Amino acid sequence: MRLVVVGNGMAGSRLVNEVRARDKDVRITVFGAEAWQPYNRVLLSNVVAGTSSPDQVRLLDPRWYAEHDVTARLGVAVTAIDRDCQTVVAADGTREPYDVLVLATGSEAFVPPIPGVERATAFRTLDDCERIREAAASARGAVVVGGGLLGIEAARGLAGRGVPVTLLHLAGHLMERQLDEEAGLILRETLGALGVAIRTGVTVSAIHERHVELAGGELSGGESIDADLVVLACGVRPVVGLARDAGLEVGRGVVVDDELRTDDPSIFAIGECAQHAGRVYGLVAPGWEQASVVADLVTGADKGARYRGSRLVTRLKAKSVELAAMGETQLTEDEAEIVRFSHRHKGTYRKLVIRDGRLVGAILLGETSAVGTLTQLFDRGGPLPGDRTGLLFPDLGLGGAAVADSPTRMPDSARVCQCNNVTKGQIRACWESGARDVEAVAAATRATTGCGGCRDAVEGIVGWLCEQEGVSA
Ligand SMILES: Cc1cc2nc3c(=O)[nH]c(=O)nc-3n(C[C@H](O)[C@H](O)[C@H](O)COP(=O)(O)OP(=O)(O)OC[C@H]3O[C@@H](n4cnc5c(N)ncnc54)[C@H](O)[C@@H]3O)c2cc1C
Repeated sequence: MRLVVVGNGMAGSRLVNEVRARDKDVRITVFGAEAWQPYNRVLLSNVVAGTSSPDQVRLLDPRWYAEHDVTARLGVAVTAIDRDCQTVVAADGTREPYDVLVLATGSEAFVPPIPGVERATAFRTLDDCERIREAAASARGAVVVGGGLLGIEAARGLAGRGVPVTLLHLAGHLMERQLDEEAGLILRETLGALGVAIRTGVTVSAIHERHVELAGGELSGGESIDADLVVLACGVRPVVGLARDAGLEVGRGVVVDDELRTDDPSIFAIGECAQHAGRVYGLVAPGWEQASVVADLVTGADKGARYRGSRLVTRLKAKSVELAAMGETQLTEDEAEIVRFSHRHKGTYRKLVIRDGRLVGAILLGETSAVGTLTQLFDRGGPLPGDRTGLLFPDLGLGGAAVADSPTRMPDSARVCQCNNVTKGQIRACWESGARDVEAVAAATRATTGCGGCRDAVEGIVGWLCEQEGVSA
């Protein structure tokens, strides 16, 4: 069987890995438009912030392909799919036949049509990060356009490097898709105290060499900000051109069914380029889950494997800013039961959104000790305890919480690593087979190897198991 994978990003490289782990004989060719070995895109914010080097975000050892008999065409884009001949055509003119083709072409940064936009840098790839880092070394001022997750992480990273930075956001408050207005306001104040100047309700109308011109409802015109570095974080667009040109069904993404199959049964799509049940995801966990399903199907390891959609938890990775948000956070009191605690002076905000006695959304800002508990409740969709206070303040020991962040009380089914879908039970099983530290657990289960946000939780579970059994960690 000849498998061709187009796209060697987080979903494509994971798929190649998963297929080879299940089957030694499949002939695999992967095309990657980027010349780099696959890397952990999620950690690029750390590269901009200077807390990780480019080498530290690599996903695979360069020798892996040869050792696993995989042909990797790095720096070679696929330009067309010839469905009649079951062949892909590459930019260098070569043709590669396939029995199964998987599209994992991801997304590209949206670049708004602003005069002078060629002077700005997008924030999507390792090459983008290299450009930002280089410019930041001598920048006298920076502007980040877009106050979503990526824009905030970029702005915080630049401020941490000592660059005066202004974050511009067109909507009325930051991360308006994940946060309500009050949380957005508190986040703005937290970032302000860390050196990020924030302007909402405005955007850039022109980019010049040393300044940008602003536009927006609040401005009467003529305002500008000094900046010789402009970073664009204005959202992403799924890369669907190949699929569209090949006549596959495309909506916002490439339309797939529960087997991640397109309307051509020999072509699958996974990751950010795929649209499943009307949704296109923008986080890594769904792509990795989809890769596992496709690997099961194409190798025959589990012919019944199906993808049923993902429930997402967004976590900000910006130094000194704790933030987690999940589900429907913006419902009103008319639509849901809202439990909220806001302490603006301290920069903390906690909110539960409950419908029919179940958690459908939550925000934790400034303090995220309840994130494990809330994620479990959100994931399972089970009924909540009557006492909501214990859920918002697990540290107070008020009781009432059905599950807890404490390794002792956490059920084995609790999902500890969101990115890799690893439960406490799997970590326990791994410990029982001899893993005694986070690195060993990561090697066996992949927990902690996505965004890294679960590292403390995994450490806690390993420490607790060692203590319980009287084993030194
Ligand atoms: C700065 C940053 C921070 C992020 N933080 C988080 C986070 O905290 N948590 C989280 O879950 N997610 C986060 N994400 C999102 C996460 O990185 C993506 O969800 C994930 O990378 C999607 O994987 P993918 O393989 O679908 O796409 P990508 O990783 O984008 O990979 C697609 C690859 O396909 C290649 N390609 C495209 N077209 C072709 C072609 N024709 N031929 C050959 N190759 C092609 C592209 O060059 C690219 O390398 C972040 C993203 C960024 C940029």
